[in-house]
Amino acid sequence: MVSGGAGFIGSHLCEALLANGLGVLALDNFITGSGENVKALEGSPDFEFRQADVNQGVFLDGDVRYVLHFASPASPPQYDANPIHTLKVGTVGTMNMLGLAKAKGATFLLASTSEVYGDPLVHPQPESYWGNVNPIGPRGCYDEAKRAAEAFAMAYKRAHGVDTRIIRIFNTHGPRMQVSDGRAVPNFMAQAIRGEPITVYGDGSQTRSLCYVSDLVRGVILNLERGDELPVNLGNPHEVTVLELAQTIVRLAGSKSKIEHRELPVDDPKQRQPDITRARKLLGWEPEVPLEEGLKRTLDYFRSVL
Ligand code: NAD
Ligand code: UDP
Repeated sequence: MVSGGAGFIGSHLCEALLANGLGVLALDNFITGSGENVKALEGSPDFEFRQADVNQGVFLDGDVRYVLHFASPASPPQYDANPIHTLKVGTVGTMNMLGLAKAKGATFLLASTSEVYGDPLVHPQPESYWGNVNPIGPRGCYDEAKRAAEAFAMAYKRAHGVDTRIIRIFNTHGPRMQVSDGRAVPNFMAQAIRGEPITVYGDGSQTRSLCYVSDLVRGVILNLERGDELPVNLGNPHEVTVLELAQTIVRLAGSKSKIEHRELPVDDPKQRQPDITRARKLLGWEPEVPLEEGLKRTLDYFRSVL
């Protein structure tokens, strides 16, 4: 069972689980996802989709082997627009998914985030870093919900012996991101393709490290098979400034768009790079798709939908 299965990462995960021979039930309430993302899977006899809000509780017949909790708004403008829902799906939604895993004797996996490190004072970020989060800022609804979600997973492990996993996902991109989702990659790509100004927030010196979605999904499945209850960073350590990212996308798109600077959002993390030593050792995982190759694939997708 995949919550958030009609989202960007969730839909790729459903596809990969089906390819591994598993039956997949995807749940989604479409708050930020789209039925289009799973349309190609609907023909598969092993795939089922149900529109459902996981905050309301989910009761299923039959056996469930894995509960993968990916439901949550993930883009800063989207969680800023839905702060209460974001808090609920990280807390109540996570508790409901853990309750389902407990009832079914299933392995539970939480899609957590590098945002648990907030605006990090340790660089790159290892899992042992406790983070630097502003609970009352505009990102607090997301960061604190995910931190609470991690605490819920550990509590169900300790109190009920549920087999749990926590992955901390760093910025991931690929086909099926929503064009209007507001994150840097969709914004820059749509702007470059349309010949509009590229909106770099602040001076663009803040950094991010971008992972292509197929690498991420491979890491998720390895963690289901080989992981333990402690968090694992999944991301690509190739770090770039946001300005470099914008310039690279303009070049790859062959665009004439000019870069324009806009106000930096409140609490925007200044640097982010995963330390993936633990994923390498525990899972034998390493990202394989180089930054520009991944960006080209994502760009092809945005060209096809715009
Ligand atoms: P997304 O918005 O494309 O997907 C999230 C999906 O969850 C959407 O389809 C949405 O409709 C669904 N959803 C939200 N609340 C729900 C609810 N109450 N009930 C049922 N469905 C609900 O975002 P994404 O980028 O695919 O992110 C997926 C997960 O990965 C999220 O949990 C996010 O926090 C995490 N994550 C993503 C990234 C990234 O870079 N993409 C980074 C860190 C963490
Ligand atoms: N960003 C930007 N222009 C945009 C969208 C985002 O400069 O149009 C910046 C944003 O301020 C942040 C980085 O790009 O520094 C990554 O933003 P994103 O929303 O993709 O994810 P975040 O890592 O902040 O959650």
